[in-house]
Amino acid sequence: MPSLWLDHVAGRRGAVTGRSWDARGRYDTVVVGAGVTGLILGLLLARAGQHVAVVEARTIGAVTTGNTTGKVSVLQGTRLAEIGRRHAVHILRSYVEGNLEGQQWLLRYCHDRELPVGTAPDFTYAQTESGVDAVRAQYTAARSVGLPVRLVPELDIPVPHVGAVTLDDQAFLDPMPVLHAVARDLISHGGDLFEHRRVTSVRSLVRSHILSTPNGKVEARRVILATGTPILDRGGFFARLTAERSYAAAFRVPGGAPAGMYLLPISPHGRCARPTTVVFWSSAATVTTSAAARRRRPRSTICWPGPAVTFRGPRPPIAGRRRTTPHSTGSPTSAH
Ligand SMILES: Cc1cc2nc3c(=O)[nH]c(=O)nc-3n(C[C@H](O)[C@H](O)[C@H](O)COP(=O)(O)OP(=O)(O)OC[C@H]3O[C@@H](n4cnc5c(N)ncnc54)[C@H](O)[C@@H]3O)c2cc1C
Repeated sequence: MPSLWLDHVAGRRGAVTGRSWDARGRYDTVVVGAGVTGLILGLLLARAGQHVAVVEARTIGAVTTGNTTGKVSVLQGTRLAEIGRRHAVHILRSYVEGNLEGQQWLLRYCHDRELPVGTAPDFTYAQTESGVDAVRAQYTAARSVGLPVRLVPELDIPVPHVGAVTLDDQAFLDPMPVLHAVARDLISHGGDLFEHRRVTSVRSLVRSHILSTPNGKVEARRVILATGTPILDRGGFFARLTAERSYAAAFRVPGGAPAGMYLLPISPHGRCARPTTVVFWSSAATVTTSAAARRRRPRSTICWPGPAVTFRGPRPPIAGRRRTTPHSTGSPTSAH
């Protein structure tokens, strides 16, 4: 079953049409992967005058981007604290500056094209004492690089909590209309977009690279892999990959959804809310059946009694454990 976002675009495809696959086979740059990273990168290169193709194994946004909660926030759970623990403060500052720049670019892009964007404070909250430590660590890390975060003892949501850190004026959007707009822009700037073309290998020659797909080859002076997970046998990265899948359900709740975005990062039974819908999800360290997720679902509805389910996670695929990646099992139905 597709995610909330992909479900909404099902049957409304066809807006993006590019040149046929074998029309032009040599490029300055080929970007592999048409998620938010690959498509925006492709557009920026095409705008800069490069002859660009974006080559996608499935369809636009089919993997991570079309399965997120579409938050455009710099707070990001406890990520800043994690980076701050391992790296010097100037690295954390660069990370935040890059994120702010990317966030502002995306918001400007949406504003110029009248794509709907909501604004709300983002909260990372805790339910346990160890969670509070993580929230404080996130606060300290964010403050160390100048982000105007605040610690908040009480939240206005009917979910148990013992504290939170918040950053005002963050954004949320439906990722699919944005991706489709970027794809149309890419094509109008002379770029090519090919869906259903899986890159299976990249062979390097002296001045160029040959990308193979089951449908034929293309040549590029530069190749950028924006596939989310590694696809080439370099550095053994594929062996360090652990498959994870999240199961989500969205509800329209009596009295309306909370006005902020709330993320509980330190829990295998995560909860996430954003204005307009309340999304609960259960995460597993590795891919498992959705039966476990179904068992957890009733717990979520205790907080908002009487919800109307607007979206359910996937039906159980096959009983038993699957040691496969989200890419090979189809799109994870997930939120974050
Ligand atoms: C569960 C979850 C929730 C998240 N929620 C948020 C959020 O709310 N806000 C936020 O900012 N970030 C969120 N993130 C982080 C998220 O990873 C990024 O924001 C972003 O969506 C990643 O985009 P991407 O383009 O890098 O990857 P993807 O969207 O995964 O795109 C990669 C593309 O590469 C294609 N591909 C793979 N292999 C090949 C191949 N061999 N040949 C051709 N194409 C190939 C795939 O089909 C896919 O379309 C979330 C991440 C996860 C895992």
